[in-house]
Parts: sequence; C-alpha cells; structure tokens
Amino acid sequence: MRYLFHQLHLPLEYQEADLAPALALTLGCNLANISEIKVLSRSIDARAFGQPPHFIFSVSFYLDEKYLNQTHRPSLALQAAAPTKVAEFTKVTDTQGRPRPLVVGAGPAGLMAAFALAEAGLKPLLVERGDAVEGRKQKVRDFWQKGILDEETNALFGEGGAGLFSDGKLTSRSKDSPRLLRFLETLVSCGAPKDILIDHTPHLGSDQLALIVPRLREKIVEQGGEVRFLSRLEQIEVEQGQLKSVTIAGKRILTDTCILATGHSARDVYKMLAYSPVALEPKSFAIGVRLELPQEVIDRAQYKDWAGHPALGVASFRLTAKEEKGFRACYSFCMCPGGMVIACASSKGQLTTNGMSLSKRDLKCGNAAFIVPVTPDDIPASHSGEPPILDGYKFQEAIETKAFIAGGSDYLIPASRLSDFLAKKISVDLPLERSAQRAIPADLWQILPKNICLTLAHSLPQMLKKLPGANPKAVILYGPETRSSSPIRVTRGEDGQSLTVQGVYPCGEGAGYAGGIVSAGIDGLRAAQWVIQSYTPT
Ligand SMILES: Cc1cc2nc3c(=O)[nH]c(=O)nc-3n(C[C@H](O)[C@H](O)[C@H](O)COP(=O)(O)OP(=O)(O)OC[C@H]3O[C@@H](n4cnc5c(N)ncnc54)[C@H](O)[C@@H]3O)c2cc1C
Repeated sequence: MRYLFHQLHLPLEYQEADLAPALALTLGCNLANISEIKVLSRSIDARAFGQPPHFIFSVSFYLDEKYLNQTHRPSLALQAAAPTKVAEFTKVTDTQGRPRPLVVGAGPAGLMAAFALAEAGLKPLLVERGDAVEGRKQKVRDFWQKGILDEETNALFGEGGAGLFSDGKLTSRSKDSPRLLRFLETLVSCGAPKDILIDHTPHLGSDQLALIVPRLREKIVEQGGEVRFLSRLEQIEVEQGQLKSVTIAGKRILTDTCILATGHSARDVYKMLAYSPVALEPKSFAIGVRLELPQEVIDRAQYKDWAGHPALGVASFRLTAKEEKGFRACYSFCMCPGGMVIACASSKGQLTTNGMSLSKRDLKCGNAAFIVPVTPDDIPASHSGEPPILDGYKFQEAIETKAFIAGGSDYLIPASRLSDFLAKKISVDLPLERSAQRAIPADLWQILPKNICLTLAHSLPQMLKKLPGANPKAVILYGPETRSSSPIRVTRGEDGQSLTVQGVYPCGEGAGYAGGIVSAGIDGLRAAQWVIQSYTPT
C-alpha cells in the first residue's frame, strides 16, 4: 500500500541514501519492506530552542501493511488513490475558422498562458511591449548605473515581466496543485533545478530566470506560437459586447480572444480600459518602504549558533504587526535574503523600489518590503477629470513623483537610516554596508502619506525585536514601495471573460488575480484553459 508521512526529520548533513533508513527507523519497520520512496517536500525547522536546525521531509512510499508497526499507524496517511495530477491541456483540432488567440504581456502570466495555448495547438500570438531578455539586460543596466530610463523596456517591462529582475522566490499559497505542479515542471523543463519541485521555499534568482525565460519562449515558438517584442497593445475595439480587434504597435489585428496579462505597472493599459466598455473595480493594495539590514543579523536571529552552516543557506523572515488604535497593520513582504534593493520606473519622473537577488543570494544585506494596507476609501479623489477608477494609480503616481524629486531627479533612491526616520531627521549619510549605491539621504515622511509613516514608525521597532542585533542606525529604509499589488481589478466571470466584454480574458497581477510569480503563472494557465474551452464547446 502507498502511504504518506509528513514528519521525517533528518540532520542538516543528510545524504539522499539516509532517507530510507531514517524512515524505517522512524516507522519501526524493516528497511527491506519499504520501497519506492518519493520526496514530496523539504523544509528547514529552526524553531527548537538550543537544538540544531534540521530538515523535515514529506515522503510517499510503498509498504505492505502487515509490516507496519502499529504505534506509527496514526501518523501515516494513505496516499490518495492517485498522486497529484499535472494540469493537462486538451488539443484543439478544429478552430472553427476563428482567428488565433492573442496574449498580451510576456510576464509569468502571459508566458504560461501562451505556452499552454501553444501546447493545445492554438498557435497563439504573444505580444510584449518591451524587449527580449538579451536586449532588456543592457537597458536595465543603463538605468541602474546611469539613470537612463527606457519607458518600454525596463525592470518592469520586457520579456519575463516584473518577475525577471526579481528575487525569483517561487513561494505560493496556491491550493491549485495540478496547475502549481504544471508551472514548476515547465520551469524545470526549461532548465530550473529539480529542487524547486520539493523545496518549501523554492528560489531561482534573477540570473537563472534570465536563462529559463528565453527557453520558455523557444518552446512556445517550437509549438507553433509567435512572439513579438517591442509590440505594445494600444487599443481594443469592442462591438456589441464582443472583442473585435486590437491595435498593436499601430497595426489593427482582428481577434475575438485576448488574454490581457499586462501586469500592474501598465497604467496606460488600465487608462485605456477605463475609457472602454471593459468593467473595472477598485481594490485594496499596500504601500510602504523597503528595509535593508546586514544579512548576518538575520542569519544569527533565525539560526543562532548554526548561522552560516552551508546546508542552511541564508535566512529569511516574515514579520507582522497587528492593527492597533491609531495605527494600521504592517507586514513584511517579498523578503530577499542576500539580495539587493533596486530602483524601478516605467514612466519618466516617477520612482519606486523593489528587491531582487541572484541564485547564490550571497550579497551582504537582506531586504524586504514593509507595507501598510490602503483601501479604496483611503484614496483621495484626484479631480483629474479622468474616470475615478484611475484614482488609485494617481495616488501611487503622486508618491512616485515625490520620490523621483527627492532622489535628485536622477533615479537615485531616497533613503534613510531607521533611527533618523524615527527621529524625523534626514540622515547625514547612509551606512556603507548597503546594496543600493545609487541612493541618497532623504526625508521619507515627505514622500509617503503621514498615516503610513506613523504606522511604520510605530510598528517597525516592534517588528524588528524579532531580529535581535538589528541596529536602527544600520537599518536602512528605501522608499517608496508602491507596486506591491494592483489598485484595480478587471472583473471576470466564471468563464474567465470580462464581465462586460466577451473575448477579453483579464489575467495575472495587473488584473487583480495574482500576487507573485507563481500565482501569476498559475493564473496564466487558468486563463489558457478557459480559452481552450471556448474553442471546444461541449
Ligand atoms: C523587483 C521585483 C522583485 C519581485 N520578486 C518577486 C519574487 O521573488 N517572487 C514573487 O513571487 N514575485 C516577485 N515579484 C512580483 C512578480 O514579479 C509579479 O507578481 C509577477 O511578475 C506578475 O506577473 P504578471 O505576468 O501578472 O505581470 P508582469 O510580470 O508585470 O508582466 C506583464 C508584462 O506585460 C507587458 N505589458 C504591459 N503593458 C503592455 C502592453 N500595452 N502591450 C504589450 N505588453 C505589455 C509588460 O512589459 C510585462 O512584461 C517581484 C516584482 C518585482 C518588480
């Protein structure tokens, strides 16, 4: 019979050959009677005080019931009749004369959607406003090193989307196991290490992503898809509630199906939609700062005397502060151990921050966003004369404009020592041990709204108590962090189509259905499946 066991403990120094004997010992049965062990997940447990951290495995294995030690029976679960299925896509053999589907945006959502459509035989056209990875790298380097911004190809726009120059964390809370597995297996088939299939907190790093993403593009093309870069969606045409055509880089393309996976930085797209029949609704998001501190402080706080152990790698954290009278909730987000704080912009005169890392995660500092929720009711009316649904973007833009000016109008990141932020002073200088060299002391209270700063000033010292050794003089705040999620949702029905325009499939983070690389990729697969179903009516 096949069983599952979720609590197999092994020391940091384990070898693969140790798994079976450890399992037999734990279950009190003979090694010879256990077979076909499959590792399902692996995580590190560093919680026990005074005890060395260790690995915890979930495994499935085969064991004849008669050999099972009865004392361990309660801790075993029978493996479900079949292991988790990987999402499959039905082949479409007859397109009934319909044009090929269009996918807009080559971020994780659009890439996965195009890949699934290509596998189904639908020969999708994938268009991306920015450049391919190769050309994109140079433009992003020019921005980080010299402050030269290309509004179409940058750290947010271009092949791989916002996920390319990222930490490449593949963590997700998705319960959609078949699509999650499909997403991860696709990455592995494009060169990602197999460990991502079992690690509790899988990580790739920007350098690996830059190799994987072009391979994924090649697979789309190999299966009949077409990919066009430097091709921006400018307009959609709707006739009687049905998508009729789109305008891409000045050319009208007839299509009745468009997966819109443009990410949440494409404010021009949502502005265009706000003037179209496509229904939008406001949603909550969060803003704040990016906080950086020496990685050795984080490692020491999490791993104590075992910090630096090669099997542990660099430590991460997740910190929260609850809402209190007069203060909002605050939480850490997108932690990048051994990574770097980066400047991001997609429009001239605006600046926001984010964090990324390389696969080795071996830089001296770790960073994370510390953000505070903002609801649609918090957003002041912009009185811009434009549809009010755009006010969330205007709110973000106003903050990003202040940040750009505070950064010397040259894309330097406004920054402050935490101690100075708490004392409402501009720092005289910044700690030398930092990842962002193009940073400049600034008053973050002048950039972010007062209620956000009050919450940060109240919550950060409390939250950092969980990281003993974090010295407020050596902790740096960079700001602002404005693009943790979209301020709008493009509403869609159960068939994945816009509630008001048939043929438009809002998808991914920009449409309000994802919040990270994995959830965006899964949503791309979901959108593709809806499109495939529309070609194969039952
Ligand atoms: C620096 C950074 C680090 C991050 N780190 C992580 C991390 O470690 N883990 C994690 O899970 N998430 C991370 N994220 C978030 C993650 O990148 C996003 O959640 C994810 O990329 C969203 O995917 P998406 O496909 O929905 O949108 P995007 O990735 O934003 O992709 C949208 C694409 O659409 C294109 N586009 C926009 N408008 C048009 C148009 N008009 N015509 C044609 N193309 C268009 C854009 O150029 C872009 O390539 C990070 C984000 C950033 C910015």
